[in-house]
Amino acid sequence: SGAVVAASGAGGARPPKAPPRRPRGKPRFSRQSAIKKSFQQEQVVFSTPVPADPTVAIIGGGASGLACASALAARGVRAVVFDTGMHGLGGRMATRMVDDGRRLVFDHAAQFFTASDQRFQKLVDEWVDKGLAREWRGSIGELEAGGHFTAIPSSTPRYIGVRGMRPLADAMLPENDLIKVVRPSWISKLEPFNGLWRLFESEKPQGQYDAVVIAHNGKCANRLLSTSGLPQLTRQMKV
Ligand SMILES: Cc1cc2nc3c(=O)[nH]c(=O)nc-3n(C[C@H](O)[C@H](O)[C@H](O)COP(=O)(O)OP(=O)(O)OC[C@H]3O[C@@H](n4cnc5c(N)ncnc54)[C@H](O)[C@@H]3O)c2cc1C
Repeated sequence: SGAVVAASGAGGARPPKAPPRRPRGKPRFSRQSAIKKSFQQEQVVFSTPVPADPTVAIIGGGASGLACASALAARGVRAVVFDTGMHGLGGRMATRMVDDGRRLVFDHAAQFFTASDQRFQKLVDEWVDKGLAREWRGSIGELEAGGHFTAIPSSTPRYIGVRGMRPLADAMLPENDLIKVVRPSWISKLEPFNGLWRLFESEKPQGQYDAVVIAHNGKCANRLLSTSGLPQLTRQMKV
């Protein structure tokens, strides 16, 4: 997930061009290239330029949204992260603690990760130095009903969160005045208005932004984009 959907200024929607027919026998576009194509064909056009000090709304405080906020802050761009998390940020990097004297930690979505990108590896090395993550040299695999365990081999190092995944999510947000977090908050609607993007949580206004990043899964994005003036992109989020 993680689609930039908007820029700034005033104006209306450009009608989508009909997509060209696919010649018989040609492979289908990948989802990524289809979305890229829709971006080229269908945009909400604002007549005024993005201001020099834009504010970006990021909808979703999982790994994607937090990486985006951090990257924007590194470039001096303000961001507001909205996330539904009742217990904390991180989305599917969620960790639950059971404190019955043994202090059990459960990662109930992502349990380990690898790093194939140099920039991510740098971040992982920082987590390792801070004692937040460590390489996992034990087995990882699938435990089937009946108790049969199938190990999943890996040629690259695998890492786990030492106290679960959620602290890694927290560590992704630098202490920075440029980033604000609004949580728990479920953004239900976004719409272009007077050259900005207006967000709502149910009927409650949640501010106006120069750009919006949707950093969560497609089904929710489909609902959110239904009022965006981007029907083609909205349809693709359903896939
Ligand atoms: C059971 C399971 C096991 C997994 N195991 C692994 C693993 O071992 N290793 C690995 O690398 N990956 C694993 N994954 C995948 C990994 O967890 C995800 O790819 C990754 O965490 C996704 O991050 P994200 O930021 O894109 O989305 P998410 O983590 O889903 O974050 C999106 C956030 O946006 C919020 N949100 C959604 N809609 C709105 C809205 N309208 N307004 C405000 N907030 C909203 C959501 O509540 C969520 O907090 C696993 C996933 C699952 C489900």
